[in-house]
Amino acid sequence: MDLKTAIRAIPDHPKPGIVYRDITPLMADGEAFRRTVEGLASAFKAHRIDKVAGIEARGFVFGAALATALGAGFVPVRKRGKLPHDTISRSYSLEYGEDVLELHRDAVAPGERVLLIDDLIATGGTAVAAAELLAELGARPVACAFVIELEGLGGREALAGLTDEVFSLMQFG
Ligand code: AMP
Repeated sequence: MDLKTAIRAIPDHPKPGIVYRDITPLMADGEAFRRTVEGLASAFKAHRIDKVAGIEARGFVFGAALATALGAGFVPVRKRGKLPHDTISRSYSLEYGEDVLELHRDAVAPGERVLLIDDLIATGGTAVAAAELLAELGARPVACAFVIELEGLGGREALAGLTDEVFSLMQFG
């Protein structure tokens, strides 16, 4: 089974013109979910990853599973106001307005080998903000991984100077 068939396309969600790529069918299918995590893990098993940083919220699902597969720790990159301890934050642009991502100041140590993950990259704005937070703590991500890459929106290019490698398991044009 092609894993892409487990991704549901929702036309015009959340607004006209957007094709929303819904990963809930993939997560609900044990075989597809396992193969997704294994596909990510096999791409990074030689990278000696210390910590996987997952972006709220769907990056938590894949990031936590990937961290256990790699024998790495997991750290959450969260939306504004959710983390209880001392944080650093970075705002990023959405199509309308802006949002803020935060990271605990002690989430990673300088020089640790961190893998950043989210479910999907589109323009790259979200992942760039998260990568910049990690860099601020001295732990520039060695790679950024996504289950889905929406090609042609500039995400991969936006991350170019912030990491050594951008990886996606499946691509949609
Ligand atoms: P961007 O910052 O433009 O790369 O957008 C990535 C973030 O927005 C990820 O957290 C995705 O979950 C979400 N996202 C953006 N576009 C889509 C889409 N077409 N389908 C599903 N999620 C999306």
